[in-house]
Amino acid sequence: MKETHKTGPTIAVIFGGTGDLAKRKLIPAFYNLFLDGWLPEQFAVIGLGRSESDDKDYQHHLREGLGEFSRSGKPADVQWESFQNSIYYLSSDINDPQAYRQLADKIEGIEALWGTRANRLFYLSVSPRFIEPITINLGLVGIASNPEHDRIVVEKPFGHDLESAKELNQLLTRTFQESQIYRIDHYLGKETVQNILAFRFANALFEPLWNRNYIEYVQITVAEEVGVEDRGGYYECAGALRDMIQNHLLQLLCMVAMEPPISFEAEEIRNRKVDVLQAIRRLSREEVGKYAVRGQYGPGWMKGRQVPGYRQEAGVDPNSTVETYAAIKFYLDNWRWQGVPFYLRTGKRMQEKTTSITVQFRSVPHLTFPSAMSENILPNRLIINIQPQMDIRLRFIAKKPGLDMALTPAEMVFDFNAYSHQSQSPEAYETLLLDAMQGDATLFMRSDQVEVAWDVITPILETWESRPSLEFPNYPAGMWGPENAEALIARKGHTWTVAVTK
Ligand code: NAD
Repeated sequence: MKETHKTGPTIAVIFGGTGDLAKRKLIPAFYNLFLDGWLPEQFAVIGLGRSESDDKDYQHHLREGLGEFSRSGKPADVQWESFQNSIYYLSSDINDPQAYRQLADKIEGIEALWGTRANRLFYLSVSPRFIEPITINLGLVGIASNPEHDRIVVEKPFGHDLESAKELNQLLTRTFQESQIYRIDHYLGKETVQNILAFRFANALFEPLWNRNYIEYVQITVAEEVGVEDRGGYYECAGALRDMIQNHLLQLLCMVAMEPPISFEAEEIRNRKVDVLQAIRRLSREEVGKYAVRGQYGPGWMKGRQVPGYRQEAGVDPNSTVETYAAIKFYLDNWRWQGVPFYLRTGKRMQEKTTSITVQFRSVPHLTFPSAMSENILPNRLIINIQPQMDIRLRFIAKKPGLDMALTPAEMVFDFNAYSHQSQSPEAYETLLLDAMQGDATLFMRSDQVEVAWDVITPILETWESRPSLEFPNYPAGMWGPENAEALIARKGHTWTVAVTK
């Protein structure tokens, strides 16, 4: 649990400090934590980047980013001036051991001024190929070796497949203890995702129904309107399965399907999530065609604007067979969920940007009302909208006001924005950076979580890679994915939830 006094003196070192992530997310997150009084008095950020620059220019560069990307908007002069004094820049080559000596001097200099040994947070906001030189050099120079005080934050992608994820874990644990490693999945820092735990485990109402006896199926959708933007080169080596399903969607599935934890301790919660991943039934190669659907967007129209297909994007092979859409039906082999399908889908260039979870309850066991009245009786359904809409909607059947006995679906809605209108919700990176500073790893991925998640998707990855699709592109930009995805869910008489808007 977050408490202001728990954040001791902290030096955050950002490798890739001049990059996109630092400017758009990390620095705005630190700044908003500062505004809201969460940062300790003794706090510093050291940004490292390749370009020649100095503290002043770097601070100026970050201030511009705040104006553009921070939820609190353009910083006011007084506040910014007080914050910018904690920002330093070091121009360095990650592969140069000398750079780490310089970094050590800088850190030790700041600590000498403060008169205390600070918590040191090393944030790897760089391409994964730099994880190795950074960890080896940090190890050699010995500035991250105190398990009580020193932590390392690693961005996604975490490995390219099961083997490389294992290698990465081994590499990291040669220098750090597992308790020092914070593998970030920013989805887990979202308010609406954390609220799933509150919804399930702080209410007595839902948990007794949260099982195969009452739930018909669960579906999780992460739909993006954007295409690959300027990340074509990266995406060609990834695809929807690696980029979204292996991490974000499986993590959401864990939140929905996990057993009630005994406590809110990091290890307990992470254990319960691993249980879910272990329980997911592994597909055989023969089953992949039946349980998984892939797609790639072709040219199309988005909100009245013509957009190119994936194969026409910059950095993409004109004959690419990389999937930009994936839908999978999973089953969990345990007592709670036996026989309940979990449908996961994600895609780029979809009709609407939405992340949502639908929990579809079973139909009533007996129809009390005459059939003419029963037409509108739909099963209860709970929708958890994660983003951009942030709400929880419970559908139930009510009597239509009037003299006759007519029935109609109605909704109870919990709207996050309306609820938090006085205090703006923090961004995911604020939550996660503060947790990392406070040494709370609950929302970060443990090594076994990452590896089991890779294990779950390995049969699909291997099958798709060994049998490239001959049908791509198979959905136009601006639609909800390929037709086969409709067939996947319709086989059991189920349907994808159409985005529910206010
Ligand atoms: P970027 O390309 O914008 O920035 C890369 C940074 O690395 C720059 O600061 C650059 O100076 C530095 N760098 C590159 N080579 C270097 C070298 N030899 N020595 C020293 N510094 C060097 O990348 P980004 O978008 O900020 O992404 C960083 C990481 O975060 C990547 O792993 C990415 O997958 C991940 N990520 C990014 C986002 C995002 O929104 N940008 C979101 C999720 C994950």
